[in-house]
Amino acid sequence: MSLWAFDNSLTRVLAGFYQPWQAATPTAPKVVMFNDALAARLGLPGREAGEDVLAGWLSGRDPVPGSEPVALTYAGHQFGTFNPQMGDGRALLLGEVIAPDGLRFDLQFKGSGATPYSRGADGKCTLAAALREYVMSEAMAALGVPSTRSLAVVATGEGIWRETPHPAAVLTRVAASHLRVGTFEWAAAHKGREAVEQLTDYALERHFPERLHEANRPLALLNAVCEVQARLVAKWMALGFVHGVMNTDNVAISGETIDYGPCAFLDGYSQGQVFSSIDRGGRYAFGQQPLVCRWNLYRLASALIEAIAEVDQADTEAARVMLEQWPERYEAHWLREMRAKLGLFEERAGDLALAQDLFAALEGQQADFTQLFRAISGTLSAGYVPLEEHLTDRDVLREWYARWQARLAEEPRDPAARKAAMDAVNPLHIPRNHLVDAALAQAEAGDLAPFLMLLDVVSRPFDFREGLERYAGGAPDGSPNHVTYCGT
Ligand code: AMP
Ligand code: MG
Repeated sequence: MSLWAFDNSLTRVLAGFYQPWQAATPTAPKVVMFNDALAARLGLPGREAGEDVLAGWLSGRDPVPGSEPVALTYAGHQFGTFNPQMGDGRALLLGEVIAPDGLRFDLQFKGSGATPYSRGADGKCTLAAALREYVMSEAMAALGVPSTRSLAVVATGEGIWRETPHPAAVLTRVAASHLRVGTFEWAAAHKGREAVEQLTDYALERHFPERLHEANRPLALLNAVCEVQARLVAKWMALGFVHGVMNTDNVAISGETIDYGPCAFLDGYSQGQVFSSIDRGGRYAFGQQPLVCRWNLYRLASALIEAIAEVDQADTEAARVMLEQWPERYEAHWLREMRAKLGLFEERAGDLALAQDLFAALEGQQADFTQLFRAISGTLSAGYVPLEEHLTDRDVLREWYARWQARLAEEPRDPAARKAAMDAVNPLHIPRNHLVDAALAQAEAGDLAPFLMLLDVVSRPFDFREGLERYAGGAPDGSPNHVTYCGT
């Protein structure tokens, strides 16, 4: 019996949506990170297989038993412009594994060399970029955000050139699937309605089987994706997460966060915050994310519309209304997140305005997003004072604070219990930009200890632990604005 429970439905069902391909051969693979807990959860071989065996499998040196590596084909709107012909240029889908609980997951390499979609680039990934995705995705999962996960990072033994030489690595990531909005755009642009229908059935069976019975399947899929994306982006907004490159090829049908390139968490709160060096127009700024999400859902609707009309012409109107009303759907998710963050257990008509007005008051204050919500829960025992040190204008939240207090009085709770509930959704620890940067630089220089420590801290984001105070601190005074690169 194989150690790897592969069952590769995509290669069976979706011929034409991929190209079989092999990973590049690494020179001297060495395991840098291996996620024991995730391997156990997926029923995959663990360290007992032996370090060198794992290094061989998870670098492309030795075929993973049962895998059928393919580069997926897709299209995408990149910064608003349609690119009809894209695909896995530095990634390779190994196949799907069935976990002991019966759930199906994609295993994918990132950085395993050039493919037919690499457009002249090397298809490789630096060790720092692989470790960055590892820590960001594991932090997101620990924060309760739907996300791809990271199984392993294997250094290939090579150096690659990114302005300066860097060690290269292969990341193995785990996803509900790698179907994207761009997969549907590609099918619609090149293959026509029947291929879109085939892809729709596959996506529904895989991610939303409870909707398979609906009369108009493409409409059912659109509805499901509208829902999971609303929920996802509401979580990003509640945590101060900036994805950075919300192109339609980076939007998963499953509703997971995928493609950790230039993403970062806010330090100081600002709607206009951008981290990515290539996002010069601020298209993917923090506050733009709900708008862009809807824009991307319109692209999905366009790809599906012929198939929707084929079932029932009148349903195209239902699709139009679905997108038109999407902001309310998103807002309901955001409000649920905000109620929890603010310790509100019941629903009142003024709650949306209360949450919105908090952010309106904070604009320009440079308040640390993560620390601020811990400070708000701290006021339950200490009054307004703990908030002051987070604000440029110390009194800017006084009026809002009085309103919030009055709102809390409408549903009295033991303050300690309310604080505990708030602290269970407002993290103490996120992957702080300055700490991530420092840990990655040290890892590239050969010292993995700071990275392992940071990973440990962000894997328990809500827990106060003695001695970890510096991990909860904001960026040091005078640090330059953080800039991220499309970490290749
Ligand atoms: P991203 O926006 O990071 O998802 O990347 C957009 C596209 O560029 C994807 O199709 C990638 O496969 C491709 N790409 C990015 N970096 C590389 C690289 N180093 N080599 C080959 N293809 C790449
Ligand atoms: Mg991508």
